[in-house]
Amino acid sequence: MTYSLAIHGGAGTILKSNMTAEKEAIYHAGLACAIAAGQAVLRDGGSAMDAVVASVCALEDDPLFNAGRGAVFTSDGKQEMDAAVMDGSDRRAGSVAGIFGPKNPVRLARAVMDRTAHVTLIGPNALTQAKDAGLPFADPDYFFTQSRWDALQETLDMRARGEVSDDSARRHGTVGAVARDLHGNLAAATSTGGMTAKAPGRVGDTPMIGAGTFADNDTCAVSGTGHGEVFIRWTAASEIAARMRHGGETLRQAADHVVMNDLGQNDGSGGVIAVDRAGNIAMPFNCEGMYRGAVRQGSAPEIRIY
Ligand code: ASP
Repeated sequence: MTYSLAIHGGAGTILKSNMTAEKEAIYHAGLACAIAAGQAVLRDGGSAMDAVVASVCALEDDPLFNAGRGAVFTSDGKQEMDAAVMDGSDRRAGSVAGIFGPKNPVRLARAVMDRTAHVTLIGPNALTQAKDAGLPFADPDYFFTQSRWDALQETLDMRARGEVSDDSARRHGTVGAVARDLHGNLAAATSTGGMTAKAPGRVGDTPMIGAGTFADNDTCAVSGTGHGEVFIRWTAASEIAARMRHGGETLRQAADHVVMNDLGQNDGSGGVIAVDRAGNIAMPFNCEGMYRGAVRQGSAPEIRIY
């Protein structure tokens, strides 16, 4: 048995022409740090679940990515975060939606899975669970980034002028990780601030098990990023597993079909990272770029944007 790990930091209109070498290096460093965090767990024989949470925490802590610190703003200038985890060994899952306060929403999703009899929590009791679990909270200043605030103002201005932004980079961003550990178990974790200028109370695909997050040892673990409403309507993550289970497709065939056909032909720009029970990794996306990285035991990590 060998380990495999893949991570993403969001997909969208990531144009090479808008990217400087300096900016690219900063993204690479952020992704490398997240890979290293998960890989350290897997290398020591730790669980896929611990690994994906470690990788996602690193991305949540990095203000470059739209999750935790650096989350985007709702149309009324607030930050509402969604996160989920799923364990492929027994299909236990936990998720939270619309929360603000815990530094690492993914750890709260994990606490919901580990400490409650439920899968999804929202509202004040989600925060109570975070406190009971001893998870750290942070002030609004910690989560604020000027670039996300500016993106909100630009989006609201465009809306006021009746223009629709076709810049999915403005809408998108999410972080996630999938892993297979040395024991053959799979896990997935996803965390996001959602979409810029989303309506207050809007919940995306990330915390919906089967849409943006899914894991099952018999097939695969998947974490998605992109136009959440479409991922929900096509149950994107579990559809990949279903195509493998019922249609006998390989991970690559199933993931490509869902991303290119189901999502790509229905205004569902975005991508997924996925790992199967044999440790194969697929990372298809149907837009210009997806911040992503992967490592398999015995090989060097690979990090890519385009
Ligand atoms: N899927 C996320 C959402 O809809 C956003 C993204 O990944 O870009 O909330």
